[in-house]
Amino acid sequence: MAHAHESHDSSSPKRSRVVVLGGGFAGVYTAMALERALGKRDDFEIALVNRENYFVFQPMLPEVISGSIGITDVVSPLNRLLPRTTVHLREVEGVDLERRRVVLSPGFRPHAHEIEYDHLVLALGNVTDFRGFPGLPEHALPFKNLGDALALRNHAIRCLAEAAVEDDDPELRRQLLTFVVAGGGFSGVEVAAELNDFVRAVGPGHRGIDPAEIRVVLLHSQERILPEMAEPLALFAQRILARRGVELRLQTRLAAATSAAAVLNGGERIPTRTLVSTVPSFPHPLIEQLALPKGRGGRVVASPELEVEGSKGVWAVGDCAQVMTPDGATAPPTAQHAIREAAVAAHNIVASIRGGSRKVFAFYGLGKMGSLGHRSAVAEVFGVRLSGFLAWWMWRTVYLMKMPGWGRRLKVAVAWTLDLVLPPELVQLRLGGSRGASREHYEPGQDVFQQGEVGDRLYLILKGEVEVVREDEGESRRLARLGPGEWFGEMAVLRQTMRNATVRCVSPLDLLSLPREEFGVLSTHIPDLRQRFERVAQERSPDAASAAVVRE
Ligand SMILES: Cc1cc2nc3c(=O)[nH]c(=O)nc-3n(C[C@H](O)[C@H](O)[C@H](O)COP(=O)(O)OP(=O)(O)OC[C@H]3O[C@@H](n4cnc5c(N)ncnc54)[C@H](O)[C@@H]3O)c2cc1C
Repeated sequence: MAHAHESHDSSSPKRSRVVVLGGGFAGVYTAMALERALGKRDDFEIALVNRENYFVFQPMLPEVISGSIGITDVVSPLNRLLPRTTVHLREVEGVDLERRRVVLSPGFRPHAHEIEYDHLVLALGNVTDFRGFPGLPEHALPFKNLGDALALRNHAIRCLAEAAVEDDDPELRRQLLTFVVAGGGFSGVEVAAELNDFVRAVGPGHRGIDPAEIRVVLLHSQERILPEMAEPLALFAQRILARRGVELRLQTRLAAATSAAAVLNGGERIPTRTLVSTVPSFPHPLIEQLALPKGRGGRVVASPELEVEGSKGVWAVGDCAQVMTPDGATAPPTAQHAIREAAVAAHNIVASIRGGSRKVFAFYGLGKMGSLGHRSAVAEVFGVRLSGFLAWWMWRTVYLMKMPGWGRRLKVAVAWTLDLVLPPELVQLRLGGSRGASREHYEPGQDVFQQGEVGDRLYLILKGEVEVVREDEGESRRLARLGPGEWFGEMAVLRQTMRNATVRCVSPLDLLSLPREEFGVLSTHIPDLRQRFERVAQERSPDAASAAVVRE
């Protein structure tokens, strides 16, 4: 592949280039501190790479669910925050530590882009990774960025609207009106609290939805939620959530998911169409690949000066770094630590370029705060523990003042004030079109579809087995057992009829599901494919000898 290459300008005296990877708290605050240090001088240049053109103020992200602040109020455009930084809106694809280059994904021109660096700041954060958990990649919603928050909000609104009209199917209604959140750390608790407030505020506004039908369940693997907080505050949070109707399932792990249930470690299934999971957290895949010293949880080991052990000019900050405080503890992965690490890293980078003394990271945290929605929160600040309204007021004030830019602070303050008197915003912002090809996971006993339903998708078995069963005048006949590489659902899709059999999962099943429209395009343009599907549909049709379709 051809490469575009940004090297140093050889006609002017060499300026150092600092390349920051990641535009979250750690990356943005490093670049802001570098810009301040640059002042009127021009002895180094700054580049920052991020996949979005905005910085997300994550502590307020859960508020997007209820719309209590404007959707774009939790984000700030990087170009406004960093006027003297070259911002690359790209995916970081690799780092060549030997040649001191970063490889970025192609933009409009179809070739990869390389940037040389003198100093590299690793600030890529960590990732929520569902790999290895059956059905989670297909059916669980993560909660990390603005897209995730919007997707959850839209999905919750859709579930309520569907529940209001699906009044003849009690099982489906139960699934639609049950919302499950996995992970009882700060982000999981805040998401559960906001989601609970939202669905309970707007749900009963739909015809026929009884508030008693709505369930919000929070799953947590340990004995109590908020393990980062002192026990009395965590217990207070549990009481508040329970009072508002959140069901707490402690010492419970999420083991798998299907489109219609959250499967717990003991095998219990909670019927739901909404599963949000803020766990498990894993190191960023790019960080995993780099030949750098790693510590707990795969984080890059940074020295107290934030430089990576044994790699001069490579710095690590934020959630992707393991940073020790002078008392030997590891700095937790929080925004307040990321901001302080960024300031120290920027100072030391400038000291390496210009000469001068370096600083060490010595921040022990100001406290911890978590919102519980409904004007309540828990806080531990400078050793003082607060809960309830006072903690909530402090939570709002502190985070408001920490938001970058007065304009944004003003917008959020106005939105919060209006939120006190106006009902929650219920507009659904659908961003994508219809659901295209997707993967689905099923557990034994679950029906992929039932005889008599509308046939709008075709399924290819990737893993596991199904049986095809037809009900005929009260008698149930097993027609076939299908396994990996085989497909089903073609008959109703090809002939636009209703499903003429039920397909039931018999062992944990992974499927690729293709909508009728996409299948139509493929089969129109690949005649061989259509003929093959037609042939199988013919063999499997109820009129054909049933023995011919039983393949075991
Ligand atoms: C819902 C939620 C609530 C939270 N609440 C609080 C709170 O109340 N208080 C608190 O202190 N902390 C809170 N946190 C934690 C805090 O947000 C993190 O500790 C902080 O964001 C870490 O900053 P970071 O820059 O290391 O990582 P991130 O903020 O995750 O930033 C990483 C950036 O790198 C970008 N990126 C990643 N990979 C690539 C790639 N390959 N190419 C290009 N760009 C890439 C990402 O898009 C992202 O912008 C919360 C987190 C969440 C998810």
